[in-house]
Amino acid sequence: KAKEAGRNAYRFFDETMNSEVVANLSLRNGLRRALDNDQFVLHYQPQIDLASGTVIGVEALIRWQHPELGLMAPGRFITVAEESGLIVPIGEWVIQEACRQAACWQRAGLPKIVVAVNLSAIQFRRGDVEHTVVRALDASGLDPQFLELELTESILLQGTDSVFTTVRELKKLGVKFSIDDFGTGYSSLSYLKRFAVDKLKIDQSFVRDLTHDSDDAAIIRAIVQMAHSLGLRTIAEGVENENVLEQLRGFGCNEAQGYHFERPMSAEAMSDYLEKSRQSLALALAANN
Ligand code: C2E
Ligand code: MG
Ligand code: MG
Ligand code: MG
Repeated sequence: KAKEAGRNAYRFFDETMNSEVVANLSLRNGLRRALDNDQFVLHYQPQIDLASGTVIGVEALIRWQHPELGLMAPGRFITVAEESGLIVPIGEWVIQEACRQAACWQRAGLPKIVVAVNLSAIQFRRGDVEHTVVRALDASGLDPQFLELELTESILLQGTDSVFTTVRELKKLGVKFSIDDFGTGYSSLSYLKRFAVDKLKIDQSFVRDLTHDSDDAAIIRAIVQMAHSLGLRTIAEGVENENVLEQLRGFGCNEAQGYHFERPMSAEAMSDYLEKSRQSLALALAANN
């Protein structure tokens, strides 16, 4: 009896594994086609400077405009893209497109903002990040100080000389670096020193319940204090309401990003948003004169 149950359990396991393998294979083929057929798009989410209340940056977030399934969030395909190595060409496209778009907004006379791009550990292992970024900056004409690269703690943990050299060389050009989802990984403070990043992005998981969870509040306060004593800026991700925002202000957090301000939006919607921001800045200036 036990043996039978065991066999059934095994068969069940085997079949789900198989269907998962098949699903991943078709996803992988789909990603390849998506690259060839320009089905990826970038959406942008504003980052607000808490001192001035104005937009100072946007995070570029990839989506897949799937012909049958509609707009797909990265959570559904990034892992497969990483496992198949396709994250390298996909990531190259993201860097090029983000630089192109940011330069385009600047040429249109919109407020100058930093565009932040997410990088995967696999891009560092299998791709040539430095070369890709330099080429994208050249092709777009974007001033490097308006590009920020978001690293994960797993990238820093690889601890290879090539990651270190890439960061150092790109920093020399003026490119900025931040650590994404800060506080969730094995943050070693020595990495912050070694890589000399510019900004910590406090993970959403601490921000979400900030007003109800005193441990989260203590963690965020500690991160902000540590960041500031190291001369780093801080941004809180996943800010969904005014109460959380107020508390972050009290802690001295520099920037915030989240649904409370805006959800990620298309490049076109972002252009309108930046135009509105330009107009209100002009009005504020006129009022002060
Ligand atoms: P992330 O870099 O930490 O990005 C923040 C995620 O939180 C985004 O999800 C964003 O839409 C979402 N978000 C922003 N504000 C709020 C909020 O107030 N509440 C909640 N609940 N969520 C909020 P998205 O766009 O689905 O991206 C998920 C993850 O996929 C990103 O997390 C990033 O790790 C990865 N990703 C996105 N674009 C790229 C890319 O171009 N390359 C790579 N390698 N990874 C990417
Ligand atoms: Mg990010
Ligand atoms: Mg994050
Ligand atoms: Mg992330």
